[in-house]
Amino acid sequence: MIYLDNNATTYLDHEIIELLYNNNAPLNPSSIHHYGREARKIFESARNDVANALGLKLGKDDYKIVFTSGGTEANNLVIKNFRDEKIFYSSIEHPSIHALCKDIEGAEEIPVDENGVIKIDVLCKMLDDNRGKKILISIMSANNEIGVLQPMREISNLAKKYGAKIHTDAVQAFGKIKIDFNDLDLDFITISAHKIGAVAGVGALIAKDQNILKAINQGGGQERGERSGTENVMGAISFAKAAKKAVSNVASYIKKTSELRDYVDEEVMKYGGEVISKNVQRLPNTTMIASKVSSDVQLIQFDSAGIAVSNGSACSSGKVQASHVLRAINKENIAKNVIRVSFSINNTMEDAKKFVEVWKMINHKLN
Ligand code: PLP
Repeated sequence: MIYLDNNATTYLDHEIIELLYNNNAPLNPSSIHHYGREARKIFESARNDVANALGLKLGKDDYKIVFTSGGTEANNLVIKNFRDEKIFYSSIEHPSIHALCKDIEGAEEIPVDENGVIKIDVLCKMLDDNRGKKILISIMSANNEIGVLQPMREISNLAKKYGAKIHTDAVQAFGKIKIDFNDLDLDFITISAHKIGAVAGVGALIAKDQNILKAINQGGGQERGERSGTENVMGAISFAKAAKKAVSNVASYIKKTSELRDYVDEEVMKYGGEVISKNVQRLPNTTMIASKVSSDVQLIQFDSAGIAVSNGSACSSGKVQASHVLRAINKENIAKNVIRVSFSINNTMEDAKKFVEVWKMINHKLN
């Protein structure tokens, strides 16, 4: 089987499998005994390693890392902490922000252009109209469905100018593009382990240390009272290992995946495929392709040809309504005819060629 759905989740990295296989100690960092102290030590070193991978310092005047059960929880944690303030969020955020903010009175959507890039002039106006209010801006660094990247440098400067706090969901961007988080100087960052080769069920909200977060679940008061629940020590270590590896491999990741992605784009366009957001900056591994054949039919055909692709985002599959991302870029009309291809560093040109061959066959036969 050729796996081309790496934005949904990735294969477990073999080093992570080894790590998990070789560790069976009872690790609860809140326990006082030997095992607990050992657990605390390795959990804190995982925290440090994740901070290092992001190029950030931990400490009072710098950042803190709150480990969570994934990107979804990290996004919920930050957004729920601002539910009584003004929240501006982009119209193409992941549902863990988009659907949540829809239910928050006073949260306002920032529109995007036809490629999915945030309309900076509209954001400026929104900030102008709300001068003096406490504001959180939440904009994803990279979109999971169409791969579009946002101008985070410009957005961060704008937030600073207006004294607004800024959060980015970097779940898809982290490890896939080079990001200087230190230079971006963001207030909150969300990342998730299973998009970079570690286990699902671990993520983190990285925050400027001075931001005190109210926990969204009642419990044992772990993570300095900001996130209750027994710490996922093995998850955190595997996350740290994967983060370090992803960051050190990012240049070759970009080279390898963009080569495959560009090949696929060119080939399908020759045969009438439409590549969404082709002319703006995208994740190197991601392409969304529209054609005349329905997504469901394509998915089944690809599956029986031994290729796993997605009809958008794994999170929205199974739902009948069109993706809110395609709606936001005025492409609702093609929403039922798209597939998303997302490569990993381990895919080969043979994989890309096989994909193109099957894509042509499906689109020729069923057109
Ligand atoms: N944010 C983005 C952009 C995502 O793509 C995803 C998952 O697909 C999430 C958040 C949720 O992360 P998790 O699966 O770790 O909850």
